[in-house]
Amino acid sequence: MDLHSNYIDGTWVEGAEAAPNINPSNTDDVVGHYARADAAQAEAAIAAAVRAAPAWGLSTPQQRFDVLDAAGTEILARKEELGTLLSREEGKTKAEGIGEAQRAGAIFKFFAGEALRLGGERVPSVRPGITVEMTREPVGVVGIITPWNFPIAIPAWKIAPALAYGNAVVMKPADLVPASSWAIAEVLSRAGLPAGVFNLAMGRGSVVGEAMLASPNVAAISFTGSVETGHKVAQRAAQRMAKVQLEMGGKNPLVVLDDADLDTAVGAAINGAFFSTGQRCTASSRLVVTKGIHDRFVDAMVAKIKDLKVDDALKDGTHIGPVVDQSQLDQDLRYIAIGRDEGATLAVGGELLNRETPGFYLSPALFVDTHNDMRINREEIFGPVASVIKADDYDQALAIANDTQFGLCAGVCTTSLKHATHFQRHAQVGMTMVNLPTAGVDYHVPFGGRKGSSFGPREQGRYAVEFYTTVKTSYVNP
Ligand code: NAD
Repeated sequence: MDLHSNYIDGTWVEGAEAAPNINPSNTDDVVGHYARADAAQAEAAIAAAVRAAPAWGLSTPQQRFDVLDAAGTEILARKEELGTLLSREEGKTKAEGIGEAQRAGAIFKFFAGEALRLGGERVPSVRPGITVEMTREPVGVVGIITPWNFPIAIPAWKIAPALAYGNAVVMKPADLVPASSWAIAEVLSRAGLPAGVFNLAMGRGSVVGEAMLASPNVAAISFTGSVETGHKVAQRAAQRMAKVQLEMGGKNPLVVLDDADLDTAVGAAINGAFFSTGQRCTASSRLVVTKGIHDRFVDAMVAKIKDLKVDDALKDGTHIGPVVDQSQLDQDLRYIAIGRDEGATLAVGGELLNRETPGFYLSPALFVDTHNDMRINREEIFGPVASVIKADDYDQALAIANDTQFGLCAGVCTTSLKHATHFQRHAQVGMTMVNLPTAGVDYHVPFGGRKGSSFGPREQGRYAVEFYTTVKTSYVNP
């Protein structure tokens, strides 16, 4: 059996048990067997990180740069292989998988540079002759908990800044997609890190995640996943005053105004709603369309959706791969039934498809005649399912866009500078897009939302320093 072990204290160790990693495009295809840590092994990973943290926290920026730069170089060089592996375990298309692997490599390179650029401030004291210095120090041991939908990019955008700013890491990937994180661990195991600075503990959230939440030795938890788990993580972290950062769900609106360029709007909506099988926290799941363009937009969407090729993620020409697993597929189908029961019209899609291999294939679904109070417009479905909500005018469209518990990303398609700038200013979200899909962001700038979507400091770009460091103010009377 091709068993992939956990990586703890610089050593590969078998788990208490192992689980098969199944390809959602072909459930007969086992990507590999991956260890599952028990509580004792999770504790061992935390203990190794605790031992390694002080020395790594005092390592030079050059040492950190060298490790992260080497990892980034290797991931970029192997992006085809790693991207294909990712698509095989998660089901996004090969082009999307390779793009994500490239992004992960670029993130390591970016934070390699940030390790060198970490500065401080020195200011005169209000008292004569005294100076004050503000410096940033690592927080210590960081626990990282990630979801299944970006198997390499999300681990990368947490691991790289954690290491760049001098922290030791215990990484727990989602159960469904351990292969990409295992590949990062394998790269890091040869990149020059001292033993124990990076530890991979694959396994269940209720076991490994729980151990990290409970341990007083894990100073900070960076979590991305569902709202429900995020709330649990926040409560557990608050009980022992651990630093916590949460990225959770979305119900992102893409507003299409009467003056929009139709092709641009349809392109943004198709990409935002359905690419990566709609399994993106930034997916454009609510298409809020003003009445003058509504019918033309819906007709064009239906025509385009019918042309989308849903098939094996690794096949050339596939636009949309399978849903990630049976339970997510069940959830998608349940919401399609709920939408119908609520009185929405299914304009196209929402059907199970048979392909050459057994997999979780679902045709992209577009609901019309929906209103914003329907459950399909309030709850995150997390699949290739989107709704059109008709609005009278811009003001009503903006109100609908903001009428949600979430606040991750919002987009507007318009040729009006006035409406574009007003929307950027008034959308209650962490990220806005003009004439672009709500999904698809750069790797060197902050990512995150507000309201029910995110909690704590932003991830990515230079803003990542807030979470992965703590500030020290030092007074000197020379
Ligand atoms: P999930 O909440 O089920 O799991 C996320 C992680 O938490 C997994 O590693 C899981 O094992 C772990 N976990 C589960 N129970 C735990 C517990 N009791 N203690 C500690 N850890 C535990 O989410 P998922 O299904 O893997 O991912 C899909 C969700 O992620 C969607 O809601 C999506 O919107 C969200 N997401 C958000 C962003 C963002 O940045 N906002 C990005 C990607 C995905």
